[in-house]
Amino acid sequence: MLQRLIDALGADAVKTEPEDLAVYSFDAYTDGRTPRAVVLPASTADVSAVVKIAAEYNEPVVPRGAGTGLCGGAVPVEGGIVLSFARMNRILELDTQRRRARVQPGVINLNLSAAASPHGLFYAPDPSSQKISTIGGNIATNAGGPHCLSYGTTVNHVIELEIVDDGGNVFTTSIDHPGYDLTAAFVGSEGTLGIVTSAWVRLMRAPEAVRVWLATFDDVESASDAVSAIIAAGIVPTALEMMDKVMAAAVEAAFHAGYPTDAGAVLLIEHAGFEDDMAHYESEIARIVREGGATTWRSARTEAERAALWAGRKGAAGAMGRISPNYYLQDVCVRRSTLPKALHAVEEIAREYRLTVANVFHAGDGNLHPMLCYDKRDPKQIQAVIESGNAILETAIALGGTVSGEHGIGYEKRDAMTHVYSTSDLATMARVRDVFDPSRRLNPEKIFPSGVRCPEVRPA
Ligand SMILES: Cc1cc2nc3c(=O)[nH]c(=O)nc-3n(C[C@H](O)[C@H](O)[C@H](O)COP(=O)(O)OP(=O)(O)OC[C@H]3O[C@@H](n4cnc5c(N)ncnc54)[C@H](O)[C@@H]3O)c2cc1C
Repeated sequence: MLQRLIDALGADAVKTEPEDLAVYSFDAYTDGRTPRAVVLPASTADVSAVVKIAAEYNEPVVPRGAGTGLCGGAVPVEGGIVLSFARMNRILELDTQRRRARVQPGVINLNLSAAASPHGLFYAPDPSSQKISTIGGNIATNAGGPHCLSYGTTVNHVIELEIVDDGGNVFTTSIDHPGYDLTAAFVGSEGTLGIVTSAWVRLMRAPEAVRVWLATFDDVESASDAVSAIIAAGIVPTALEMMDKVMAAAVEAAFHAGYPTDAGAVLLIEHAGFEDDMAHYESEIARIVREGGATTWRSARTEAERAALWAGRKGAAGAMGRISPNYYLQDVCVRRSTLPKALHAVEEIAREYRLTVANVFHAGDGNLHPMLCYDKRDPKQIQAVIESGNAILETAIALGGTVSGEHGIGYEKRDAMTHVYSTSDLATMARVRDVFDPSRRLNPEKIFPSGVRCPEVRPA
């Protein structure tokens, strides 16, 4: 099989040395496995050829973007071939008239907005990993981000997909075509239905005016109530992000972005739109948060100040290195109105397991990201992280929430799917899968439950 792959794509595109395999053996999840080979296609034809060869040898194929996935979606399976899109990273067309772009899957998210920016356009889905994660990975996970509160997640921005199925056949889906919306079915399918080899995505017009405000509160509960009150007043800001005291202190130490370190909770609020509307939104939002108990309120006065506040928020995960050698990031979603209860429970769980927890999250969406600090050198702490992560997940479900807000299911949460779906729900999803990947060789062992309760947490 390896020789056939080399014959088809060239020796330079097929990696089998242990040191090459090692760097593709993990993503941003805590578990990893070594693949049999890593293949770097340069075109759709290459992808099709690889999948056809893999089919002949019944070898699994795991697509991979930048490997920033947090649930093990790009972790290799049973040896298998990792298909890395590092060489398919070109923006193929920038259609400014129709405000859309055709991209290869390996294009880095932020590079697309950078290319669209001179035309007054941008690509809206903005995961905090956007400096490095790819459009292909974002499509496969239906990535969200701070601005998805008002712009929607990736699924709202994909127009057309070119897909390679498990037989190596190439086809396209488009929301512009009548009939079933198969494009939406592929978004979020984590590489289990087919491999995305190019995509037309929507570009949005850059807003005329943007304002960023920072409000502080004594505790996360009152900040959460303020979030609900803003939305209940009929205002949907472009972003509503929260940090607790631990997180704000780590971010400030790392970025000196101007985050207060003495408040119980910090709320970052952004609104974008027409300049004439901004004064109204500013006074309304300021009134609501003050009535909700905000202790301070300030407006970013310059573009540099706005950028610094956002750099702090988007770099929050990196800032964790300031306070802990390792961290485990949980991703659950609850109704906005239950945020105070959920946050209180997270605090209690961390206390019970004697772990430090830092919270930074998309408050407007009710999407929690508790980061549990631990030291991989201490097996007791590893066990505590596994158990507390599960306890947070169960709390979210008990509050009527769900097992993933935006990071996906992958390896990590496939068994948790049974908490939110019945056997017949899962069987229906498996039937959809069998239409596109009847051999179940495209990213197997992901999404669908294994029967094994929880994966071992290995060092990050
Ligand atoms: C610091 C940090 C911050 C993050 N912030 C956010 C956030 O704000 N919002 C959010 O949603 N996520 C976030 N994430 C998670 C992660 O960045 C996203 O899930 C992202 O979409 C993954 O993109 P990737 O290119 O790294 O994909 P990978 O991790 O390489 O792959 C992810 C999944 O996509 C599949 N895949 C990749 N390419 C293709 C393809 N061409 N065709 C089919 N399947 C494919 C893989 O098999 C895998 O299942 C964050 C991660 C980190 C480390």
